[in-house]
Amino acid sequence: RQMMAKGLPKQRPIEGVKNIICVASGKGGVGKSTTTVNLALAIAAEDPKSKVGILDADIYGPSIPKLMNLSGEPELSADNKMEPLVNYGVKCMSMGFLVDETSAIVWRGLMVMSAIEKLLRQVNWAPLDWLLVDMPPGTGDVQLSIAQSLPLKGAILVTTPQDIALADVRRGATMFQKVHVPVLGVVENMSVFVCPNCGTSHHIFGQKGAQKLSRETGIEILGEVPLDGRVCELSDAGQPIVVAEPNSSQTAVFKSIARKV
Ligand code: ADP
Repeated sequence: RQMMAKGLPKQRPIEGVKNIICVASGKGGVGKSTTTVNLALAIAAEDPKSKVGILDADIYGPSIPKLMNLSGEPELSADNKMEPLVNYGVKCMSMGFLVDETSAIVWRGLMVMSAIEKLLRQVNWAPLDWLLVDMPPGTGDVQLSIAQSLPLKGAILVTTPQDIALADVRRGATMFQKVHVPVLGVVENMSVFVCPNCGTSHHIFGQKGAQKLSRETGIEILGEVPLDGRVCELSDAGQPIVVAEPNSSQTAVFKSIARKV
């Protein structure tokens, strides 16, 4: 913990980047990366003049390359910075571009932060109106360091209905509050199941969790993303639903979240 604190970078803006938002979750597999990608694309769709980027800070399991259908190594510019890779108009940087997906890296304390620092600062992001940071899951030292080292406009927490009432979200919120980062709200992912046959919405896990959390903590529920096989299928194919199905109800949810941030 002390080592992390020593290596802790001071809060510094990223040159040419106006608004930075991080997308966090208490644990993996809740749809944090799916949300990051679709939200980035929804922000770009809502304001076509805006320039949007995604930093994949989930170095333990970088999934942005696959979700954004990007591969290859970033080129170096004259000033020795990396050029982000671009798809669907969104600039992306990920550890997945720099290391072979199949090679396991044993990340240790300071290595993690210095890798993330590189992905943040040695990249030609400018000009960007929005940079979304896909955080590593959890609320440990690394997450805290990122939250402290960036001038964040705010944090979005992603959760599933099963976990929403649990300590996860609260822990996340507490972490960001500790370092004075506003919690913009919670995205409840896989919240409702819409029956493909009859179209009825089923709140399989109930709705009480979200309402309770909101009531007790004052944290806004930014949106409920349904559990939908298409979201998963399209993600796997590197075609996020916001671009693949711009008129779908799921896309509407992401656009409505985009208008709130
Ligand atoms: P995390 O970033 O939290 O680890 P991912 O975004 O990688 O989670 O999502 C985990 C898995 O769940 C992926 O296979 C993804 O396609 C799937 N998934 C995410 N959100 C939904 C959803 N709303 N409906 C169906 N599948 C989803």
